[in-house]
Amino acid sequence: MFRRPSIIFRTTAFVAVVCLALVALDCWNSWQSRTVQLKQMSVATANLARAMAQQADDTIKETDTALIGVVERVEYDGTGPAALERLHKVLAMRVAELPQLDAIHVYDKEGNWVVNSRKVQPQNLNNAEREYFIFHRDHEDRGPHIGIPVKSRTNGKLLVPVSRRIDNPDGSFGGVALATIDVEFFTRFYDSLDIGQAGAVALILDTGTMMTRRPFSPEMVGRNMLDTSLYRAYRTLGPVGTAEIKSAQDGVTRLNSFRRLSNYPLFVGAALSKDEILAEWWNETLWHTGGVVLLVLIVGSVGWRLVRQMELQNKTEAELRGARDALEKLNKTLNTLAMEDGLTGLANRRQFDVTLDTEFSRAMRDASTLALILLDVDCFKQYNDIYGHTAGDECLQTIGRTISNLAARRPGDLAARYGGEELAVLLPNTDVAAAAVLAEKIRSAVRDLEIVHAGAPDGFVTLSAGVDALSPAGTRQPPKELIQAADRALYAAKMNGRNRVCTAADRPTAE
Ligand code: GH3
Ligand code: MG
Ligand code: MG
Repeated sequence: MFRRPSIIFRTTAFVAVVCLALVALDCWNSWQSRTVQLKQMSVATANLARAMAQQADDTIKETDTALIGVVERVEYDGTGPAALERLHKVLAMRVAELPQLDAIHVYDKEGNWVVNSRKVQPQNLNNAEREYFIFHRDHEDRGPHIGIPVKSRTNGKLLVPVSRRIDNPDGSFGGVALATIDVEFFTRFYDSLDIGQAGAVALILDTGTMMTRRPFSPEMVGRNMLDTSLYRAYRTLGPVGTAEIKSAQDGVTRLNSFRRLSNYPLFVGAALSKDEILAEWWNETLWHTGGVVLLVLIVGSVGWRLVRQMELQNKTEAELRGARDALEKLNKTLNTLAMEDGLTGLANRRQFDVTLDTEFSRAMRDASTLALILLDVDCFKQYNDIYGHTAGDECLQTIGRTISNLAARRPGDLAARYGGEELAVLLPNTDVAAAAVLAEKIRSAVRDLEIVHAGAPDGFVTLSAGVDALSPAGTRQPPKELIQAADRALYAAKMNGRNRVCTAADRPTAE
């Protein structure tokens, strides 16, 4: 359950994590720079709005200051012919001084034209129906009034009317002093601003009437803006703020900053197109993304090759391991086959010879004993003759099992088929007496099997055994002599009537 994941899995995971990290890092980086870009732009639009508000405020202030002078003059000097003569000059001077001004007018309480700043003084004209006139007639308030833009009757220009009420000495309504600002004065200033292709700026009355805007179109002047998102944002977010607004007219999303004028009931809006703001960022991001995609592709493909290589290596290693295991198994089998007797499962003659040599050398080196029991089935030729060769084989197998159960108990012990129906048991660190005891055990065990043998003297299959052992203090002699001695003892057992155990010390007695 808690096994370590494979190297292939870990490599794949590592490559995937590196690729993901690259992508995530780039996304985060791009998002950060986008945020910074928008923030910088929001500061830029706010500054733009501040400059526009300042310009509008200053323009109106200058105009209003001129109006205050006119009102004061009319109220004190009256409108007699001499006073009017002087006033006309002053008005013309003021208009010449202030570039934003189109004209200054004075109307009496009926709305009749009294005097204006122009050269020609038209007679019998009346402005009583104009919004600013009605406003001052109905309001005692002496502050400036900024009216909705109007089209000039004399020159057709679009004008922003700034007006003040003139009082009679008794405080009753005496007329109106009006200064008109050329809308074009604002338009020129707005045209000089760097707001990109899709940027927009506007000057709007607090009551929702559009004064002028860029991009300019005459029909926009005086338009009601109450329903626009910009106006609603201005109303809800306060006198100064910034909002992202999608234009209902051209569908462009813009970053809008708005600001109310300090002294007059107007506000300005400055908007930069979000797409234009982010154009450079997009450009950079595309390059980045291209680079990262390339990098991810390279890392991914290198990783993929690496993993493929590993898989191949693993497969090859597994195949090699499999081949090695198969070879080892085969070797073992061959070894066993080479050292085992096929019929009885005991060691074969070859293994017996090898073991005898090594055990013999060890016994010589350690000055220990080494015993050998040679066993021969009695009258086996007859058994074959009576019961057949196959039965003989089975009999040999049974005897082999019996011997292997009794002998070969200790690690060094070896029971082998010496040849034909002759068997041998090699017993390291065993003396003749102990070996004879074991031989006797084997003999009696085989007899007790009671394998019927009609040709044998007592009616059952029996064994004869010859035993001898090297004595620890014995002189050096080749292993062959141990076999010969045991064989002689076996011969003695045969001679002495079979079904018995004889040691090298026993003499054969003639039959
Ligand atoms: P004794 O040893 O008692 O003197 O008489 P014997 O009949 O056993 O005589 P001998 O040892 O000379 O005969 C050995 C016989 O064992 C010869 C052969 O037919 C039989 N024999 C040897 N090897 C095998 C074998 O692998 N299978 C079978 N069935 N018989 C075998
Ligand atoms: Mg024999
Ligand atoms: Mg025999």
